[in-house]
Amino acid sequence: MIASIQPSLFERMVALRRDLHRHPELSWQEHRTTERLVSELDRLGLSYERPLPTGVIAEIEGPPDVPSVAIRADIDALPIQEETGLAYASEIPGVMHACGHDAHTAMLVGAAELLLSRRDTLSAPVRLIFQPAEELGAGAKSMLEAGALSGVGAIFGGHVDRHYPTGTVVAVKGTVNASTDAFRISIRGQQGHAARPHETVDAVVAGSLIVMAVQTIVSREIDPTHPSVVSIGRFEAGSAPNVIAGTASLAGTIRAQELEVRDHLRRSIARICESVGQLHEADIKLEIEEGTPPLVDRGPMVDVARSAAEAALGPDRVRSVVRGANMGGEDFSWYLQQVPGCYVRLGARLPDSAGYPAHSSRFEIDEEVLASGAAWFAEVAVRGGCALATGDAAEPALGGAR
Ligand SMILES: [Zn+2]
Ligand SMILES: [Zn+2]
Repeated sequence: MIASIQPSLFERMVALRRDLHRHPELSWQEHRTTERLVSELDRLGLSYERPLPTGVIAEIEGPPDVPSVAIRADIDALPIQEETGLAYASEIPGVMHACGHDAHTAMLVGAAELLLSRRDTLSAPVRLIFQPAEELGAGAKSMLEAGALSGVGAIFGGHVDRHYPTGTVVAVKGTVNASTDAFRISIRGQQGHAARPHETVDAVVAGSLIVMAVQTIVSREIDPTHPSVVSIGRFEAGSAPNVIAGTASLAGTIRAQELEVRDHLRRSIARICESVGQLHEADIKLEIEEGTPPLVDRGPMVDVARSAAEAALGPDRVRSVVRGANMGGEDFSWYLQQVPGCYVRLGARLPDSAGYPAHSSRFEIDEEVLASGAAWFAEVAVRGGCALATGDAAEPALGGAR
């Protein structure tokens, strides 16, 4: 075992993770998961609050007058039919823990046990945030609005990652997750006979032009050293082969690592919609639904995250370089708008296999990550608390940034 934790604790985490894996629940529906967590918190004798219908926040008491250190796990699953063939595969049709949030949840409970065994040495209270609805990019914001970070001075989180060996922790300075905005485009033209296109305004042609045009925003307008993506994942139009579609609707996602790039992408999509509308005399409406901001790790708490990984797992277990830009979103970014902190990758590569990516029906992790993850979470809570108690972490939150 990479982290030196008691075998019995590891077994409890594995059992909890497998139970959650068998019974995955979609975002905002994590009722059984929450009840299971509450029973774990009762077992540990921790006080807790349930400010939202799902999810729970617990507190390990520490010295008064010191802000709390928060550690956070997301608890929701995805609408995917599991195909791993594991003995503990999902028993819920069409729902699967295909992102590893079951592991995050179990390791946070394990970290709580480790922290309770060191309770007398804590320099700050520790808040455990079991957050719902990360996959919708919505849970963190709701937790914040419910006061999850009141009295918190720093927050840490992490995500299992099959790209790195189990037992490694990747803590980098800079953008580690992209912003995510969703957009919808509705096109209204003029329906008509497919044999008489001149009497129509073809929404399929206008929509196709938009699909092709947005592909050149990233490739021709954005500096290639600043990663960004515009993808259209849905295009709906038409009812019959001999009817020209009068309406079409498109939907997609905008990802960027920087706020300026994000703004540029949004403006360009709007410009293209307007131009194509003029070109085809179609009525085109664009709606952009603002999602999570980019997740930026910066400041002294990144060093705290690294030193905790070195202490818990060994100096050769820490990586400060990522293998490439991660264009996935992560709603932990909302927390970092409010308080300093760090979000890491927790290596979870299967010993003998490249494995399948997250959000795949065959996604699997190396369960040893429960040990290394719990050890890191506990250590970072201890060290984050020291930094808060001594004032070593006087890093302003990003605050105000959109
Ligand atoms: Zn996910
Ligand atoms: Zn995830």
